[in-house]
Amino acid sequence: MQFQTLAQKLLEIEKYSSRLKMTHLLAQLWQATNPDEANLIANLIQGQLRPAYNSLEFALSEKMVGRALAKLALANGGLTAAGGVSVDLFGETDEKATLELIKKKQRETGDWGETARAIVGDLHLERQKDLDISQVYADLEQIAMVGGEGSQEEKLRLLAQLYARLDPDSAKVVTRIVIGKLRLGFSLMTILDSLSWAGTGMKSETKVLEEIYQKKADVGLLAASYLKLLQELPGESEKRLTKLAQTYQLQWGVPLVAALCQRLNTAHDIIEKMTQVIAEPKYDGMRVQIHLRRQGEEVIVKAFTRNLEDVSAMFPELPALGKNLPIKEAIFDSEAVGFNVKTGQMLPFQETMTRRRKHGVAQKSQELPIKFFIFDVLYLDGNDLINTPLSERKKILAKIISDTTWSVLAPFIVTQDAVILHQYHQTQLKAGLEGMVAKQFNSIYQSGRKGWTWVKIKEDEGSCGKLNDTLDLVVMGYYYGKGKRHDFGLGAFLVGVPDGKGNYLSISKIGTGLSDEQFRELKQKSAPLEVKEAPAAYQVNKIIRPDVWLAPELVAEIAADEMTKSSIHTSGYGLRFPRLVRWRDDKTPDQATDTEQLKEIKIA
Ligand code: ATP
Repeated sequence: MQFQTLAQKLLEIEKYSSRLKMTHLLAQLWQATNPDEANLIANLIQGQLRPAYNSLEFALSEKMVGRALAKLALANGGLTAAGGVSVDLFGETDEKATLELIKKKQRETGDWGETARAIVGDLHLERQKDLDISQVYADLEQIAMVGGEGSQEEKLRLLAQLYARLDPDSAKVVTRIVIGKLRLGFSLMTILDSLSWAGTGMKSETKVLEEIYQKKADVGLLAASYLKLLQELPGESEKRLTKLAQTYQLQWGVPLVAALCQRLNTAHDIIEKMTQVIAEPKYDGMRVQIHLRRQGEEVIVKAFTRNLEDVSAMFPELPALGKNLPIKEAIFDSEAVGFNVKTGQMLPFQETMTRRRKHGVAQKSQELPIKFFIFDVLYLDGNDLINTPLSERKKILAKIISDTTWSVLAPFIVTQDAVILHQYHQTQLKAGLEGMVAKQFNSIYQSGRKGWTWVKIKEDEGSCGKLNDTLDLVVMGYYYGKGKRHDFGLGAFLVGVPDGKGNYLSISKIGTGLSDEQFRELKQKSAPLEVKEAPAAYQVNKIIRPDVWLAPELVAEIAADEMTKSSIHTSGYGLRFPRLVRWRDDKTPDQATDTEQLKEIKIA
């Protein structure tokens, strides 16, 4: 497929706010492409070159885009129509005037993509007519891969070279990809829906596609595998999905989608729902999926967050952990918690997270050692264990993990008794832990927040007057505010919840309970997320429309006294005395508290 066709389709999709319409248009793209290209398209439409576990960043600022456009204009006779002329009386192009014109265009449009479209459209370029997606992708990859000294200048040169080959629409899309602003609002569910739609004209295969995706979080790979089978077995839905499930297997080095907790209020409710459980302490650390492989004497390790990002560099101690394990290859699930070297005490989440840095990791790992509380094994020496009952997986774990300086086999109890479970929870709270996680004794490893396989309880059971857990909510927009708040440029913000179908529904406006520092942080975090119109996925009542809309990216942990019914908020619920606890930079919006989870919370 020509890149121009893709660009035009994306710009068409951008015009619609209906998710259904977006799904149909995306389905048309899948129908017009081949499996290899589909892999690239699935990433490009999300504004990325590769999935999170293997990400490749452009590291190019907006300013550099302006310079690349200027370079392009200077090499091609200067600008004549894009809002001014940058050629003097003698036909010479003026570098400064060119850059000024480009900046002026950007100020007028407020959009670098639109600026690139205007500039490229203004120049008389020898465009390459049949430029296809893989050629543009290869150029983009090359730009992203340039590193080291002088890399900015080289990236700029390559980008100008690419612009020279593009039509204006493609230049617009490429620019937005490069500066991370191609926000078309495709959630994973929209992409899966559109694949199913391409295959069947319905969403009937989405659910199975979602299940299959859990084993290997790479939607490009899934799109390619699905389209390939669609070509081989058109019209044979069942056969196709069975074959896809057989071939799209868990793979070392590619993260699985993490299992998450539902919430229940009491030990009694847990036993009633789950009968027999394995209960573990709930550590307040960072979720880490560890992929370990022995290659001769060497141990290779990859670590992934629950957002599926590769954070291997954050944990230089991990290879040592694998040294004495009696295994060749394994995938473990764990919680990493920092501890105080002198007292041996566990440190809170925020301190553990200070490990997440680009420089000085080795030194930080000395100052802030980590313990990995390993609680699950998902794959071992060629065997996929996710369908093996948890009770069996625990036995396997006990055989291979022994406690070391860096790792601990997470302790647990097995019970069917609500009183024992209640006492266990109390013991965890007294020991300063967050609470407990109860896991159904014979459950398979169930990605996401589905079924009653994992349940958490945090605060004291029955502690009334307060919600017994915080909520993780998506920041949808903000209001300018008055008085002192006005000076911050922001006085309150609107938060919402995903509904599991790709939409976000509002739940609360939050204007109090933030320190000045938190307001400043919010302003800073929102700046790159501002969008002109409400994203298609937002459902918000007119009377609480924010002054500024934000793309769904920022997640805030919110505490509140009560949850009530609400006729203003589209989720149907509102919060009483909401306040910000912290920003959840480790969470993506689809991992926020969702409408299903809200149903488990007691209403005031
Ligand atoms: P919270 O905000 O309560 O930490 P969360 O919203 O990040 O939770 P949940 O799915 O509700 O995520 O809770 C599961 C999380 O709890 C895991 O992602 C993991 O980081 C943490 N955790 C701590 N101890 C355990 C444990 N023993 N088993 C599983 N997860 C644990």
